[in-house]
Amino acid sequence: MIKYNLICKCGKTFESWFAGSREFDSLNKKKLVKCIYCESYSVKKTVMAPRLSKKSNQLSKKNKFEKNLKKQLLDFRKYVEKNCKDVGDQFSQEARSIHYDKKSSKGIYGKATAEETAELREEGIEVATIPWIDNSEN
Ligand SMILES: [Zn+2]
Repeated sequence: MIKYNLICKCGKTFESWFAGSREFDSLNKKKLVKCIYCESYSVKKTVMAPRLSKKSNQLSKKNKFEKNLKKQLLDFRKYVEKNCKDVGDQFSQEARSIHYDKKSSKGIYGKATAEETAELREEGIEVATIPWIDNSEN
C-alpha cells in the first residue's frame, strides 16, 4: 500500500491510500478518485520532492540499500513464480475458492484491486500485497 498526497483543481490537498502507482492511475482514469472537499474528479498526485542528502556517501549508501532490496524482491518474485500458481485477474475468486472449498494447498498469486484485497481480508482470507518488481529494470 502506498499513500499519496493528492491535489484537486479546487486547490485542496488530501491523502489517500492505493495499492500502487498503477492502481492510482487506473482508478483516476476511470474517474474513481474523488476530491473529498468539492467532489470533483480533477485530482492529481502532488509531486513529491526527493529528499536529497548533502553528504554524497549517504546517498551511495542508500543506493546500495535500494539495490539490495531490489535483489531481494526479485528473488522473492522468482520464488513466488516457481512455487505458486499465477491466476492473474482471477485472484480474488481463486483465493475464495481455496479458502471456502479447501481445494488446493498450493499458493496462488495474481492481481487484485485494493477493494478486492480489503474484502478478502474482511472474509478472513490471508492476502499479502507484495511489491512486484520488474525483471527488466536494472
Ligand atoms: Zn476539490
